Amino acid sequence: MGEFELIDRHFKPKPAAARLHQATAAPDSIATPVVLGIGDDCALLQPAPGMQLAISTDMLVEGRHFLPDVAPARLGHKALAVNLSDLAACGAEPLACTLALALPPERARDDAWLAALAGGLWALADAQRCPLVGGDTTAGPLNLCLTVFGQVPAGQALRRDGARVGDDVWVSGTLGHARLALGALRGEWTLPPQLLAAARTRLECPTPRIALGLALRGIAHSAADVSDGLAGDLGHILRASAVGACLDAQETMKTIAAGAFSASAEGLFDRQTLLRLALTGGDDYELVFTAPPDARSAVQAAGQASATPLARIGRIEAEPGLRLLGADGRIEPLAARAFDHFAP
Ligand code: ADP
Ligand code: MG
Repeated sequence: MGEFELIDRHFKPKPAAARLHQATAAPDSIATPVVLGIGDDCALLQPAPGMQLAISTDMLVEGRHFLPDVAPARLGHKALAVNLSDLAACGAEPLACTLALALPPERARDDAWLAALAGGLWALADAQRCPLVGGDTTAGPLNLCLTVFGQVPAGQALRRDGARVGDDVWVSGTLGHARLALGALRGEWTLPPQLLAAARTRLECPTPRIALGLALRGIAHSAADVSDGLAGDLGHILRASAVGACLDAQETMKTIAAGAFSASAEGLFDRQTLLRLALTGGDDYELVFTAPPDARSAVQAAGQASATPLARIGRIEAEPGLRLLGADGRIEPLAARAFDHFAP
């Protein structure tokens, strides 16, 4: 199968999806921003009047961002999910995405693997109304590089540089579960089968918090998505906003020992380890954001409207840096560093 047949067969939207996403001349058609999709030299997008474009790119490299034996449908999902997570962090609504794909020859020949990869990507693309409208395909070591395009009303994007002294620090969902799974897959520790399956789903099938990001527009002062660990990604907000923060260790702990994870994870790991997983785990794709205390009920309403659990874990302070308030009332400094691919 040649390059063009491969694109046509696997990455062009199926007719139902094409109808959903492609703008038509019919006056009663649903407004869709895609004027022209896959097949020409450029895709054409039409953002709504008064909107700014929000653009983000994330690359997934085999061996670095995913294990070679990951299920292809999950890989397709994750490649788009990590990109949508950046749109969520900015409070942007998805418009479309492109995919630059390097495939080793044996993958390019594996029709079932390609169909599953494209199926996983398109399932999330349909669910989040973010169709694939173009890309590039080449031979090479397996690598997926997606770019997402979104829109946000001019001046309303959630940014990293808006945190103010006195803001609450909030985080969505759960933290550390992806790192729990990665450690188990790497043989660093063992997990009971049910816990491993649940943690592995968090690692391989993250949920981009698009609805929450949209609901937080006009409420949150600042936001970032947690891709490299809470301490590091909150650290980005702190530096961009020239402020510091103090996190409550007990509230932060709850974000990892939550739901199905509480009983089993607490039995398996000591509290220090759980806390470290929550703070530095990475690959969570939750949102960390700040909002003033008088917006607490609006934040809770945004969580409810988007069906996203939220936890208030700390406070923005004038003193730079990140600190942790322990159960014993002691405050200790924390490194506010994110995962760095080139760190020595
Ligand atoms: P060009 O050579 O003009 O850059 P290509 O021949 O590489 O275009 O691609 C043909 C069409 O297929 C273009 O619309 C391009 O955006 C699309 N395309 C190529 N690879 C992919 C891919 N992996 N996923 C989605 N669309 C793709
Ligand atoms: Mg090309």
